Amino acid sequence: MLSAKKLKHQPVLLLVDDRPENLASLEAVLEDGERQLLSAQSGEQALSLLLSHDVTLVLLDVQMPGMDGYEVARLMRAKARTRDIPILFITATERDERAMLRGYESGAIDYLYKPFSPDVLQRKVAVLQELQLSRQRLSLMNRNLDEARSYYAAILSTAAEGILVVDEQGIISYANPAACQLLDCPLIMLESEPLQKLATAPDSNVVPWENSLFFQHWHKKMTYRAHDALLFSPTGQRLPVTLSSAPLPPPHRGLVVVFQDNRVPKQLQEQLLKQAITDSLTELFNRHGFLQALHAAVARSQRNSKSLAVLYLDLDGFKRINDTLGHAAGDQLLRRMAERLRRCTRSYDTLARLGGDEFTVILDGLDSPEDAARIAEKILETIVAPLELQGLQIAVSVSIGIATWPDCGDSVDALLQAADLAMYQAKSEGRNQYRFFTAEMNGRARARLLLEESLRQAVATEEFLLHYQPQLMLSDGRLRGFEALLRWQHHQAGLVSPAIFVPLLEETGLINSIGGWVIERACQQRQRWQAQFAGDLIISVNLSARQFGIAELVTQIARIVEQCQLRPNQLELEVTESSLMQDLEHSQRVLRELRQQGFRIAIDDFGTGYSSLAYLRQFEIDTLKIDRMFIANALTNGKDAAIVETLIQLSHHLGMEVVAEGVETTEQLRWLQSIDCDCVQGYLFAKPLPEAEASRYPGQVSLADRAGL
Ligand code: C2E
Ligand code: CA
Ligand code: CA
Repeated sequence: MLSAKKLKHQPVLLLVDDRPENLASLEAVLEDGERQLLSAQSGEQALSLLLSHDVTLVLLDVQMPGMDGYEVARLMRAKARTRDIPILFITATERDERAMLRGYESGAIDYLYKPFSPDVLQRKVAVLQELQLSRQRLSLMNRNLDEARSYYAAILSTAAEGILVVDEQGIISYANPAACQLLDCPLIMLESEPLQKLATAPDSNVVPWENSLFFQHWHKKMTYRAHDALLFSPTGQRLPVTLSSAPLPPPHRGLVVVFQDNRVPKQLQEQLLKQAITDSLTELFNRHGFLQALHAAVARSQRNSKSLAVLYLDLDGFKRINDTLGHAAGDQLLRRMAERLRRCTRSYDTLARLGGDEFTVILDGLDSPEDAARIAEKILETIVAPLELQGLQIAVSVSIGIATWPDCGDSVDALLQAADLAMYQAKSEGRNQYRFFTAEMNGRARARLLLEESLRQAVATEEFLLHYQPQLMLSDGRLRGFEALLRWQHHQAGLVSPAIFVPLLEETGLINSIGGWVIERACQQRQRWQAQFAGDLIISVNLSARQFGIAELVTQIARIVEQCQLRPNQLELEVTESSLMQDLEHSQRVLRELRQQGFRIAIDDFGTGYSSLAYLRQFEIDTLKIDRMFIANALTNGKDAAIVETLIQLSHHLGMEVVAEGVETTEQLRWLQSIDCDCVQGYLFAKPLPEAEASRYPGQVSLADRAGL
């Protein structure tokens, strides 16, 4: 900041002469009560006084022994502190003057020849003294000004904002370093440039200064602000800025323009915006971005009356990969799939990941729905190609639902829902395929929703019950046990088939609670039958894939069995191959634990899924239940018959018991006997029976009698 230095008002005169009488006479003449007089009798003494005092003027005797007056003057000129102090030489000879003048170029010098008149001395001293005083004042002011200038210059040059000073004619007269830097051009190119040229795009006409907003505001002594302005530098830079232009206060004329780089906040804004609509894993759109894009696409299609399609993609079996290889591998897989999707689509198609393994594609400007089918086919083909993940060769497929605008719905929500439904259809019809949305799907979907709702109520109002279907030993007709089958007694619709509601229970997760209830109910029933049936009667319960996911499944079952005072081998758990395959490692572990507790394990519906005995060897299994489709076809289809025969032999080899399901005819029964099957279950003997009827079912009757033969 400016230092408030005060001028020392009392002048200080240094008188130098080797003779004391000369000094005394000088003092007598110059003493005026206002100035301070210092005296020195040698050059050395004079120099030392000069260092310790702020001397205004030196009266210097030229002829002195030792260091003479010239020498003192020379040394004074060599020092910054004393350089500018005026010197009045007092000399006896005129001869030395020229030599002296040559030596000194700066500082005021005057001469007084001895003998001098006191008048002349006084006048010369007064003039030199005044000269020096005003010089000191000036230099102090200069110093203060310099300081002020450098202070403001520092502010201007460290300001991050560009600052331009513009004169009344609109010509730039000053630009701070930030202005030069932001506009990427040197000061000389900016100074004396019209401001209007900076504010005009290179290919546009420059508006005259008087018509410009800068001028008009300035004219009205107003500040002009623009938040989204553009500046064009002489070097061709295009700079988005926020700027303000304010009139300079009088007496100055002209205006100051301050501008701020908008690129930084713009970039930040763009980045934030990007984050809000982008899926960080795949860098595709997220749900939010997708919905925005779909809105825009629908609006566009309304204008150009072109067709538009939404593809809803869901990877098949992604959960299995995620569960077995871990989330990092899952993430990697999703990224790779996103890459593949990019390759299958055109650059202007919109790709999004809605979450998990669900992707969507918006196909814009289609000529016909077939175009969407073509792209769906390409996606199916590309996705299914094997890829390496953590050193393993992995292939995933995808199920695709397609909804077109405007046929499948005119709103964004309706389109998305339709595509979602079509995707479910593709999935349930065997995966790795695409389906277009149909109105019929919509009806089914609505029915499903209703069913789902009443299922939830049924859980609350306990509309569930169990029926029991007998299983019989082929050797002697003895009752092996009962399979407990879930029934839903709907308060209006009557009995609902489990084929309809069990998949729904699984999808909604309700199976976990109901499944537990089934096990408990079946075990309690088995306990009540303790008296009337033989001790080794088996109660079979179906376990769904979802139930394998319950962490405490094994302890839950063990607790129920214990509470019902059953032996573990009186309970058989029926699981399907496909549910085991969903997460091989996990299933193996759960089955092993169940087996260790002594529970029996049966493979249900064998022959409908992978039907791989090699796979089954990996599990410890007690019972193989051959699916009733095989039994139904065996007598007319030689191949099926051969398969069943081989299956039975192999199972016996592996120590498994075989149950044939769905035995409906005596021919089937005879054939099964002839190929050494162990047990049968089917309508030929009994349908699933309500509790009371099952309780009356005889334990020891021959098969012929049971089948009414
Ligand atoms: P499943 O485990 O294969 O059960 C056997 C099904 O075949 C039963 O159908 C039974 O009524 C039927 N069936 C038995 N003998 C014959 C026959 O001779 N001919 C014909 N055509 N059918 C026969 P249901 O009771 O409708 O059960 C269907 C499926 O629902 C079951 O198939 C099972 O997968 C599932 N399910 C039933 N109860 C439960 C349960 O408590 N938990 C779980 N997770 N699933 C269950
Ligand atoms: Ca079963
Ligand atoms: Ca079955």
